[in-house]
Amino acid sequence: MSGLLSVFLHLLLFFKLAALVTFRHHHYDDLMRTLYKVHNECPYITRVYSIGRSVKGRHLYVLEFSDRPGIHERLEPEVKYVGNMHGDEVLGRELLLQLSEFLCEEYLNGNQRITQLIESTRIHILPSMNPDGYEVAAAQGPDDSQYLVGRNNANGVDLNRNFPDLNTYFYYNEKYGGPNHHLPLPDNWKSQVEVETRAVIQWIRSFNFVLSANLHGGAVVANYPYDKSLEHRVRGFRRTANTPTPDDKLFQKLAKVYSYAHGWMYRGWNCGDYFPDGITNGASWYSLSKGMQDFNYLHTNCFEITLELSCNKFPRQEELHREWLGNREALIQFLEQVHQGIKGMVLDENYNNLAGAVISVSGINHDITSGDHGDYFRLLLPGTYTVTATAPGFDPETVSVTVGPAEPKLVDFHLKRSLSPAAPTRKAPNKGQGGRVLPKKVQPRGTRKKEVERQQPREIPA
Ligand SMILES: [Zn+2]
Repeated sequence: MSGLLSVFLHLLLFFKLAALVTFRHHHYDDLMRTLYKVHNECPYITRVYSIGRSVKGRHLYVLEFSDRPGIHERLEPEVKYVGNMHGDEVLGRELLLQLSEFLCEEYLNGNQRITQLIESTRIHILPSMNPDGYEVAAAQGPDDSQYLVGRNNANGVDLNRNFPDLNTYFYYNEKYGGPNHHLPLPDNWKSQVEVETRAVIQWIRSFNFVLSANLHGGAVVANYPYDKSLEHRVRGFRRTANTPTPDDKLFQKLAKVYSYAHGWMYRGWNCGDYFPDGITNGASWYSLSKGMQDFNYLHTNCFEITLELSCNKFPRQEELHREWLGNREALIQFLEQVHQGIKGMVLDENYNNLAGAVISVSGINHDITSGDHGDYFRLLLPGTYTVTATAPGFDPETVSVTVGPAEPKLVDFHLKRSLSPAAPTRKAPNKGQGGRVLPKKVQPRGTRKKEVERQQPREIPA
């Protein structure tokens, strides 16, 4: 290649890259155009879809990345990012647009790590859960003084206080025995929540999501469940109501993966506050009811954390590049965390998929279920575990499995049909929408007692 041609090609590449990386705030139309632009650049690995509309009729657009967009491939986990749930917390929205462009470009450039990620994972990105609130905040522009303008949706409702309160149900079960997973929705839930919340609930019930992060602003910390404490304390009063889930160590690790891959979150001192390692249990910071993160854990198979990403909720345009560089690696590493623990198929003797089978891990009082395709994903830290698969009408199967630090271990279950029809089925699963196990009521007294005996109930420190 002649020297002149080489220089020309390098210049072309430089301008192409420069043209792609545009650090600016995106209004609704601009956001939509950006998502479709990424889709047009990477049509074979992306899909744009809407999960519903806001109060003012704006679409809640999702950009999906996968080597087979629109299709769940067996044993490929589904992961999601949700931004801008609070309309005035805009950094997540911009970071998710940058991430979308980055994934597409790096895939086209043949980046091995990104190619591997997209080929092994189905990634769903919802840059704005509250497009109406955003427009109100954006009309105000970057300004610290108007702290809460645009936070709520167009009906004035805080969407992160708008999910059905399953914690109360769970505390009842903690006290009297019963599960803390796949808790049922109240019958009238649709009429109790805002349209944005309803769209998100229907979305997370229709995919078997495994991992998720919800991007906020106003602090810099990775926050993990539970968000709701047993005791109600005012924010800043006392930080003692640590309320861990049975998966506490795993959640801490997920939060630390983000904070340590982030440019400065791990240092802990940010925005005049201190969080060791840049992480916190939600309730120990301040208790909140009806949040999205607890809802994910208590109602679905999804493990969600909340990322607070900037002191200033609406950073100035000039700060966006630095923020992207500070978050880029963390956003990628967090997605990669979905590939850990165990996964596999639950099948019957004739190799038919068993959807809604319950996967229990001894010592962790939180079960997950297989999805519509019979595959399941159980995030676990390295260690040796006793894992049991159960399905109604089948004998349970228990295996011992050692999980390493990398790559999820493949563990398939082949369940045999139970000979005695009256064989006890633990937590009698009802096939719910989306193939999930949705117990309809608190279990009968007899079953509850057994439950308590089998799994030592988790203690919640006061
Ligand atoms: Zn927020």
